[in-house]
Amino acid sequence: MKIFSPHFKEIQSAILEREYDSKVESHCPCGSGPASFRCQECFISPPCCAKCLVDMHQHQPFHLVQEWTSTHFTRRTLESLGLTIWLGHHGQRCPNAPRSQSVKQSGRRTTIVNTNGIQISRIEYCYCLSSATKPLQLIAAGLFPATMEQPDTAFTFEVLNDFHVHTLTSKKSAYDYFTALKKHTDSTFSHELSVRCIIQFQMLTQLPDTYSRISIVIVNSFGSLVSGGT
Ligand SMILES: [Zn+2]
Ligand SMILES: [Zn+2]
Ligand SMILES: [Zn+2]
Repeated sequence: MKIFSPHFKEIQSAILEREYDSKVESHCPCGSGPASFRCQECFISPPCCAKCLVDMHQHQPFHLVQEWTSTHFTRRTLESLGLTIWLGHHGQRCPNAPRSQSVKQSGRRTTIVNTNGIQISRIEYCYCLSSATKPLQLIAAGLFPATMEQPDTAFTFEVLNDFHVHTLTSKKSAYDYFTALKKHTDSTFSHELSVRCIIQFQMLTQLPDTYSRISIVIVNSFGSLVSGGT
């Protein structure tokens, strides 16, 4: 602590400066609007307009983002800014998706449980004749569905793997782990949805047979990736 004591004021200022960015007063480099939005998780990312933020997050759809409100930054979701996750075509919209709806209104609103909290995302599935069922499309994208019938909740493989590591190292219960996840979650997130998620999470992780098989598959997949195996 001694080494930091003489620098407390500067450290405090540097931390507080992160709460503001002078670029929010300017226009986005694309020219389409004010640069009022920023990502909390992309490293040193400059503020930009909503459209640019959405465009740059097609492959990072669960990042936490903020909007400048003239006095402070407030939490927004990429879904509320118009981001739709497109499955089956490496982040591109399926050419066979129904064109009757605008891109912003397409897809199914789905609750996503991730290591950085719970949020709503809009997911549009692949409609090609050869496409898999919706739950299997989610799994192919790294999202484990809460059910195999019309899933409206999914858990990222990262959160299942993270929970697995926590249970191995600290015997943390599913309830405690989920309570911590809720702390990461926007306080405006529906309480009813949170309760439903925790029930589904507990069911998924406490069914010894189902969860052990899922976790073995996922952990083995991660292991293979890390070791470079197949
Ligand atoms: Zn980001
Ligand atoms: Zn822009
Ligand atoms: Zn398709």
